[in-house]
Amino acid sequence: MDSRWSGRDADSVIARYAERGVNRDLALRVYTSRLLGQDPRLVLHGGGNTSVKTVATDLLGDRVEVLCVKGSGWDMAAIEPAGLPAVRLAPLLRLRGRDALSDEDMVNLQRLNLLDSAAPNPSVETLLHAFLPHRFIDHTHAVAVLAVTDQPDGEARIRDLYGDRVAVVPYIMPGFALAKAAAAAYEASPGVDGMILLKHGIFSFGDDARDAYERMIALVSRAEDYLSRGRLSRGERTLVSAVLPERLAAVAAVAPVVRGALALPEGAGAFRRWVLEFRNDAAVMGFINGRDLARYAQAGVATPDHVIRTKGKPLLLAAPAADDFAGFAATVRTALADYHAAYQGYFARNNARQTVPKKPLDPVPRVVLVPGLGLFGVGKSAEEASVAADIAEAAITTITDAEVIGRFESIGEADLFDMEYWSLEQAKLGRAVEKPLARQVVAITGGAGAIGRATAAAFLREGAEVALLDLDGAAVAAAAQGLGKRVLGLTCDVTDAASVRAGFDRICQRFGGLDIVVSNAGAAWQGKIGDLPDELLRRSFELNFFAHQTVAQNAVRVMRAQGTGGCLLFNVSKQAVNPGPDFGAYGLPKAATLFLSRQYALDHGGEGIRANAVNADRIRSGLLTEAMIAERSRARGLDEAGYMTGNLLGREVTAEDVAQAFVHQALALKTTAGVTTVDGGNIAAALR
Ligand SMILES: [Zn+2]
Repeated sequence: MDSRWSGRDADSVIARYAERGVNRDLALRVYTSRLLGQDPRLVLHGGGNTSVKTVATDLLGDRVEVLCVKGSGWDMAAIEPAGLPAVRLAPLLRLRGRDALSDEDMVNLQRLNLLDSAAPNPSVETLLHAFLPHRFIDHTHAVAVLAVTDQPDGEARIRDLYGDRVAVVPYIMPGFALAKAAAAAYEASPGVDGMILLKHGIFSFGDDARDAYERMIALVSRAEDYLSRGRLSRGERTLVSAVLPERLAAVAAVAPVVRGALALPEGAGAFRRWVLEFRNDAAVMGFINGRDLARYAQAGVATPDHVIRTKGKPLLLAAPAADDFAGFAATVRTALADYHAAYQGYFARNNARQTVPKKPLDPVPRVVLVPGLGLFGVGKSAEEASVAADIAEAAITTITDAEVIGRFESIGEADLFDMEYWSLEQAKLGRAVEKPLARQVVAITGGAGAIGRATAAAFLREGAEVALLDLDGAAVAAAAQGLGKRVLGLTCDVTDAASVRAGFDRICQRFGGLDIVVSNAGAAWQGKIGDLPDELLRRSFELNFFAHQTVAQNAVRVMRAQGTGGCLLFNVSKQAVNPGPDFGAYGLPKAATLFLSRQYALDHGGEGIRANAVNADRIRSGLLTEAMIAERSRARGLDEAGYMTGNLLGREVTAEDVAQAFVHQALALKTTAGVTTVDGGNIAAALR
């Protein structure tokens, strides 16, 4: 690992922040914190922290010594000065003389001494930073260092590796006791460059930013070299492989089975679902195909704060043999039931020793390992699933290296529980309110059109994960990008069964499955029915009827694999119930599609799959173009505004109104075989 320090970059950061009144110390603190935070071998997703001791002016104009330390909720990769709140140093130092301090009192005292009352909570490791004398202090959970310390003889290995360059601190949970132990360890050997916290991570320090940073790089590099020597002496780079079935089931088939099994029933057809993120790079495969997977994968976390994002253990499944997929699906449910029982046992055992009983967390794993296939990160959103997968990958690097040089060993169960059920974490429970469609995945066909995009935006606002499918690849990519990085855009010809199947497979790979389908793609053809070319009517049936059937069938296939119900929504248009002149080519297949939605409601209601339709009219879209609006207005002797507002309410109906109707139907858990009319009022087209 090389130092990425650049004098020029450092100077430009200092100059840029000086214009905003940020002093040199804090600017450099931001600069090297980012250097550390941007390297996943050192820091991941809010892990690690840094500080600088400097002087600041408070609101009374007094110059005070402060500790600027990473605030909770900030990621070092993109930290700003606001992410390093200033805390008065003197009161922090006075705490050193105490014998004990609760986490709540510690947080309270830290907040009371912030210079800005609106600043985020200073890191739980604030006192450790305060008690050490150095101006710049860097802390990471470097994967290479963890591989050396996460061993039964980790302390001896660390002492061998670093000699008197580092102080060694035994495992203690972050907080006051750890801060005191670390300060004592430093004072016993004050010449050191850094400090190893066994089974937790590494600190480096110095009197300027570059020293502290480059000491971190040097110390971590030494661990990396030690690991490479270990690999060479063993003559191999990977773990010993297990024997796997010859033909494995595909990710797209496995993911919905896993996702469905993970969902927690909440009664009345509702489920607490999860979103998955799949990974299968070479490092993951070497790890999950290892002969001793069951031992090392279940041995615990690589560093304690991973437990908050990944729980203590992943769910370990059997390799999914393609020729016995039904057998695999059955074992998933059993493995998960065993996981729940083991987690509840762990909770009960450790809760019994608490003076204040803890609130149990859900028993759902956040990482699922499937030998032969890959791993799934699990979260309540795609973003959270991706964080879990990132942390799982970092842990895999640590554990693989640890196994190559020795045997991976984590902290004990009691320490793990104390971290997972930390009072500061427990206090956050129940505070976040989830959006109504959070944890659900929606696929929208005709996704690049006006109604498709408006529908995607409406489902995103309600918290859903969104996949857009459209025939126009460039348009769907642009639409997905325009809606944000969470949205998946896929090229798909809904009239081609193989294309639809491939699209649904991609959705299952990306999110783990799906819950709602908005079958919206369509196109209008015109002509008097008596003169209509047969070929044109058949073409319209392909898109406006058979494509809906292909999409719905694929959705039902995935929903069945999940076993958590689902929702099919069809865009049927006013033509389905009220024919317009010369519009038979469009209205006939749409009428069949309205019937199709009722058939799905009837045949699949018993599986918890609902089917509803939206019957909309006069929406500016690819179907009703500006040219058509002009032509129809003329034919009716109206101006355009008069034509577009020609309904009982006298208001133009928009794509957003249609989108809202789809959202409403997705949320109405007791509504199936329904039709929602979105046309501003048209008695002739009203359903009877
Ligand atoms: Zn830490």
